[in-house]
Amino acid sequence: MRKNILVANWKMNLTRNQEISIVENVLPNISSQITEVVFAPNYLSLYKIGKMCNNYENVKVAAQNCSKTEKGAFTGEVSAEMIASCSADYVIIGHSERRTYFNESNTELAEKVNRALENNLSVIFCCGESISQREGGGHFDWIKQQLSESIFHFSVEKMEKIVIAYEPIWAIGTGKTASTVQAQEMHAFIRDLLNEKYGDSIAESTSILYGGSCSSTDAKDLFAQQDIDGGLIGGASLNANDFLAIINSF
Ligand code: PEP
Repeated sequence: MRKNILVANWKMNLTRNQEISIVENVLPNISSQITEVVFAPNYLSLYKIGKMCNNYENVKVAAQNCSKTEKGAFTGEVSAEMIASCSADYVIIGHSERRTYFNESNTELAEKVNRALENNLSVIFCCGESISQREGGGHFDWIKQQLSESIFHFSVEKMEKIVIAYEPIWAIGTGKTASTVQAQEMHAFIRDLLNEKYGDSIAESTSILYGGSCSSTDAKDLFAQQDIDGGLIGGASLNANDFLAIINSF
């Protein structure tokens, strides 16, 4: 049985106090239907928010990024080991904003995933196509390439620690959500790829999340799809009530 997971990705939007206030409001109101809620605060709040969530078995904490390098003279970088030392559970790797603004390639992302897994962190690995790729019909090949070049070389044991997030770039922060048909079709495609590469057990146990302007309006329909196991939520997670409404869609 795979986990239903909802991730709040706050990006670079909130101060530490604003993040703490959302967590304070969300924690006592999480419905029992959802198997896991994950907060992805900025690095500076990671430790504090991890502590706040400590007593909630189904609440986890994620960093939004990690360095591809183990350690050393890389001013401003944060290593997977440092993240693990803050008792974080996950790292988000491969978000389209990192791919676009920081030129992170599939190969570099593979290194980051490796670093995270080496440090016993789980990974939320993002993939997604641009609007021109979708309109040109190349979206399936593109997703296959992203997954093949960044994660499909890992062993079964390592794959067990990876959650995949399908996030069409044209839907992120645009208010334009993928239709349930578009999202389910891509999620089923990704599950088929997992099956081909790793067999039935990994395909059936890997959570595949949808991300891209998901709100309480469309969450219920999206999460009712057979291969959609939750969401990576940006804008709608910046307010406790909006995020709770999505949590309660399960
Ligand atoms: C995201 O950035 O992962 C995301 C899904 O953002 P939004 O929900 O704002 O589209």
